[in-house]
Amino acid sequence: PTALLWFRRDLRLADHPALLDAREAAGPDGAVVPVFVFDPRLWGPSGLPRRQFLLDCLADLGAQVDGALVMRSGDPARVLPDLVREVGAGSVHVSADTGPYGRERDAAVERALGDVPLVRTGSPYAVTPGRVTKSDGTPFRVFSPFARAWREHGWRDPAPRPDAVPWSTGVRSEDPPEVPGLDGVRLPPAGEAAASDAWRRFRAERLEGYKSTRNTPGSDGTSRLSAYLKYGCVHPRTLLADLEDLDSDSADSFRNELAWRDFYADVLWHRPESAREPLDERMHAMAYDTGPDADERFAAWARGRTGYPIVDAGMRQLLGEAYVHNRVRMIIASFLVKDLHVDWRRGARYFMQHLVDGDLASNNHGWQWVAGTGTDASPYYRVFNPTRQGREFDPDGDYVRRWVPELRDVPARHVHEPWLAPDGVPDGYPLPIVDHAEERRVALERYEQVRDR
Ligand code: FAD
Repeated sequence: PTALLWFRRDLRLADHPALLDAREAAGPDGAVVPVFVFDPRLWGPSGLPRRQFLLDCLADLGAQVDGALVMRSGDPARVLPDLVREVGAGSVHVSADTGPYGRERDAAVERALGDVPLVRTGSPYAVTPGRVTKSDGTPFRVFSPFARAWREHGWRDPAPRPDAVPWSTGVRSEDPPEVPGLDGVRLPPAGEAAASDAWRRFRAERLEGYKSTRNTPGSDGTSRLSAYLKYGCVHPRTLLADLEDLDSDSADSFRNELAWRDFYADVLWHRPESAREPLDERMHAMAYDTGPDADERFAAWARGRTGYPIVDAGMRQLLGEAYVHNRVRMIIASFLVKDLHVDWRRGARYFMQHLVDGDLASNNHGWQWVAGTGTDASPYYRVFNPTRQGREFDPDGDYVRRWVPELRDVPARHVHEPWLAPDGVPDGYPLPIVDHAEERRVALERYEQVRDR
């Protein structure tokens, strides 16, 4: 028999349970047809960095499956049944997609396939969303108890990498869609081997210090695995298994970050509307600024020209690397929502356009956490002070200087407050576009209004 393996966010061969299922369904004399479908509803709204990275991952995957990867464009509910008929497949295998769109799409594909089963094996998460619940079966709403139960739940052992898969070559493939040039954005190397390399290097060189350096954007102390995890070039279970014998605080802290990823996917699974709406119902009434002034401030934020060095450095890292350090993501998101009073959804959309790791669950819930609208929200009265955050987490100004060349010669003492430097703000760098103390007051007032309703 022939089995179709429909790749989505699982662009690897190692630790891939759906691949093992497809091979088994094909049997000793059958063949596996690997396919990727460019779905216009996902491809169209994806930012360019994600499109380019995905194409690069597919090029890598294509080489690993002996050139057998079949690429097609169109609605999967039409493309897959056509392909099933063309190759005479008896089953279609996938890793489950638990996001709101993916669930609907897969249900439509399942209906369109009729008697040919869509077999879901595994998911992009260490524990499939929906599986970790309180003892009464209801979902967790707060991270810490979720993380405890998640650890106790445990995860399956990594699946072995199959040595020989009978890939079916010779099935017609289409050219992938084109991606316009990326104007100097430096993307990470794509694919499964690049992901393993990144993990091996992080584990050997930076994991030990992770707990203490993960908050210092200037020190590059984190793994930079997010884009690989997003596209499934590596599975989190592989990483967790590799950490099994490590009992250090840093390994624990890294496991905790993977738990956040699973937690946000779990929240999205239970509350799919959280992709668009605040989880905290009271926050529907929150007043945000709109109109030309808000647009102008948004544009200054987006270009990295707010006059607050750590904010500008973060926004420029986003444009330069399609990535931002986690601490800085919190600072720039807080600045947009609490200093510029712009709706978090506008910022979240901008991130999704520019991040190579842009992910609906982690991004929207990360923004909701900052905006104080999420399940596990940062308390609304906690307003990040961009100057203090800069001084605390980038004390020597290394990160700011890397991304804001105008501030290269400002001494560390003033690098987060260049307006206080004896020589004044360097030419070409803006003065702060708003006064943080004043905007903090305005933000608190607005939060208090909605919370008292
Ligand atoms: P590491 O510190 O090495 O962490 C390892 C892995 O754990 C990450 O690759 C990621 O998969 C996961 N992880 C770490 N922190 C978080 C977190 N807070 N929430 C969920 N997962 C986490 N992450 C995304 O993958 N995609 C996004 O679109 C995204 N948007 C964000 C938006 C905002 C406003 C905020 C505050 C955070 C966002 N994050 C997002 C989470 C986090 O910033 C990134 O995962 C992290 O910076 C990636 O760098 P790293 O791989 O070096 O992380």
